[in-house]
Amino acid sequence: MREPVLVPRLQPFTSTIFAEMTALAVRHEAVNLGQGFPDTDGPAGMLDAAKNALFGGANQYPPGPGRPELRAAIARHRLRYGAEYDPDTEILVTAGATEAIAASLIALTQAGDEVVVIEPYYDSYAAAVAMAGAERRVVGLVERDGRFALDVEGLRAAVSGRTRAILINSPHNPTGTVFTRAELEAVAALCVENDLIAITDEVYEHLVFDDAEHIPLATLPGMRERTVSISSAGKTFNCTGWKIGWVCASPELVAAVKAAKQFITFVSGGPFQPAVAHALDHELPWAENLRTSLQDKRDRLAAGLAEAGFAVRPTAGTYFVCVDVRPLGFEDASELAWELPERVGVAAVPVKVFTDHPEEWKHLLRFAFCKRNEVIDEAVTRLRKLR
Ligand SMILES: *Cc1c(COP(=O)(O)O)cnc(C)c1O
Repeated sequence: MREPVLVPRLQPFTSTIFAEMTALAVRHEAVNLGQGFPDTDGPAGMLDAAKNALFGGANQYPPGPGRPELRAAIARHRLRYGAEYDPDTEILVTAGATEAIAASLIALTQAGDEVVVIEPYYDSYAAAVAMAGAERRVVGLVERDGRFALDVEGLRAAVSGRTRAILINSPHNPTGTVFTRAELEAVAALCVENDLIAITDEVYEHLVFDDAEHIPLATLPGMRERTVSISSAGKTFNCTGWKIGWVCASPELVAAVKAAKQFITFVSGGPFQPAVAHALDHELPWAENLRTSLQDKRDRLAAGLAEAGFAVRPTAGTYFVCVDVRPLGFEDASELAWELPERVGVAAVPVKVFTDHPEEWKHLLRFAFCKRNEVIDEAVTRLRKLR
């Protein structure tokens, strides 16, 4: 056989840091604060609804756009932002946000197009842009006024005649930044001026802390018709394994994304779809408790990391907190990340693997705090040995 068999555009994406770090964590029985998934279950009512659907015969292909009661629940949920979507023509259920992002890029961008991506970025973005055959133009967040801020000037400079779309994630993984209205207005202005499509990854929409507010980009003037808004049940309801996500957009954009989506998975998660419909209609108070408990966990882990000697960066949302490793005498957080499981029995992920500019991001390490308090405390106890 010809070597290598993998097409060049996918060769950079053969392994993920999560698989490698998790293997290392298992080998050293480390507390794994690398991958961001919760270690407790979602609301009992939602699990019951899934059980009832599973034993109630919902085990064949759901309709291509998703079960009607789920699309209706997604439309009702979106109204909380004042955004109205027609469940029949403007909502599409997907195999998680991951498929929604990939199908959007495949449907809306092609060879010769550029997609602007903010770095550090969620690891599927670069691979999905490559699968679409498009090119990514990366603009880094900048540390300013004690947070990771959008580099509006950099963003403006990155847009060219070839730019087709901009991919925006807020609340932002891995930094925990939540874009302000002013930042989103700048993105909106750029999209309107240059006739760009915005693809928004809002999977942490409910997980914002303190006085941060999640503002969907689609709700800004001029953005409704050009924004593909993407979210998912996984992070909101502690069911990351269910992979129920969705797209809200204009009929034209939804039809385009559906053209790609229907030949990737066609449909998925039959019995989970009614359960997520139940959750969106009835379990938002549960999600509000999750939000406050995650805020406490953030404080718990951040305090422990500071005690262990890291310089902790603020985080306004998501599952994650980033720390600067330089106060502990390290230059490169990935060196520390590879040593950490064996040396003290904790696993974390270096931020530079989510970037195209590893030199600029090499001092940062990402920890997940979406874990039981005793797990966080054990990790902190172990990390104190670093000094
Ligand atoms: C977890 C995550 C996703 C994936 O969502 P799924 O619904 O599990 O596919 C997408 N984007 C970001 C930023 C995430 O953290």
